Amino acid sequence: MRYFKCENLIEALGLLADPDTRFPLLAGGTDLIVQWRMGGRMPEGVIDIGALEEIRLIIQRENVIEIGAAVTHSMLIESNIVRRYCPVLVDACRTVGAVQIQNRGTIGGNIVNASPAGDTPPVLMAFDAKVELANLSGRRHVPLREFYLSYRKTALKPDELLTRIIIPKHGPDEKAGFYKIGTRKAQAISKVALCVRAKIAGGAVNDIAIALGSVAPTAVRAPKTEAFLKGKKLDSFAVDEAKRTLAAEIAPIDDIRSTADYRRFVAENLLARYLEKASDAF
Ligand SMILES: Cc1cc2nc3c(=O)[nH]c(=O)nc-3n(C[C@H](O)[C@H](O)[C@H](O)COP(=O)(O)OP(=O)(O)OC[C@H]3O[C@@H](n4cnc5c(N)ncnc54)[C@H](O)[C@@H]3O)c2cc1C
Repeated sequence: MRYFKCENLIEALGLLADPDTRFPLLAGGTDLIVQWRMGGRMPEGVIDIGALEEIRLIIQRENVIEIGAAVTHSMLIESNIVRRYCPVLVDACRTVGAVQIQNRGTIGGNIVNASPAGDTPPVLMAFDAKVELANLSGRRHVPLREFYLSYRKTALKPDELLTRIIIPKHGPDEKAGFYKIGTRKAQAISKVALCVRAKIAGGAVNDIAIALGSVAPTAVRAPKTEAFLKGKKLDSFAVDEAKRTLAAEIAPIDDIRSTADYRRFVAENLLARYLEKASDAF
């Protein structure tokens, strides 16, 4: 196997631009190496981007925070910027594997791996995050909710690398919650994950974003449930109707981790848990 350890981003993009050296990108390797071992097929080469300083930074700007793709879950958990502007991302990263996985696994790997059960995409979608994709010709920004095309298919082109995740700063009047239900509290892939971010005042929903993992072929937003809730006064009737709307909107499947019925039931109840808590807390 040919192994390229890149010194800088341009070197990595140059390798991707050349079809002879367009090998898989390796960040933390916690998905990729498991997949190689399970599939029994190794690639002819690999481009290691895990140590690229340019994409291992967390930066705060006036209206956004920017997270480099090679930032690990542990770095996110420790970051004061992320704790302040997107604390639910910290909550999500704390549930990824265990400490060893959090120390190696990166947010970029979690996004590009495109598992419907990945823990950071629902949070990033609920926060209207964009991903920055770069090749030698330039950079483009794609909203995360448009990045996933279908099961494990993304908008990333063969010569592109995910460089940054850009998250708008949301006001202190917006509160978010992240919930993950798995078989155990640790080392569990989710059966359902839900992130909600909302602006609720006087018991009424002014704005709301709902995103879920493990209930569809990709992480998804729930636009019909969001539309139903916007402008509603939160009472038990509204919460019940929101639960029914969400159950009808998502498309979970039966698989080894859970059943579609259970996932629907849990997703509804997690939304209700958030709404009931939020209507008291705001
Ligand atoms: C024991 C164990 C437990 C786990 N538990 C969880 C869990 O609870 N929740 C969860 O969400 N995940 C979990 N995972 C999966 C994994 O740890 C995460 O998805 C992690 O964030 C992947 O990051 P990585 O840097 O290791 O990715 P890698 O394995 O290095 O890469 C994954 C994919 O992304 C591509 N890639 C990586 N970086 C870039 C980039 N910048 N641009 C373009 N492509 C890129 C790679 O080519 C590859 O296709 C677990 C894994 C293990 C082994």
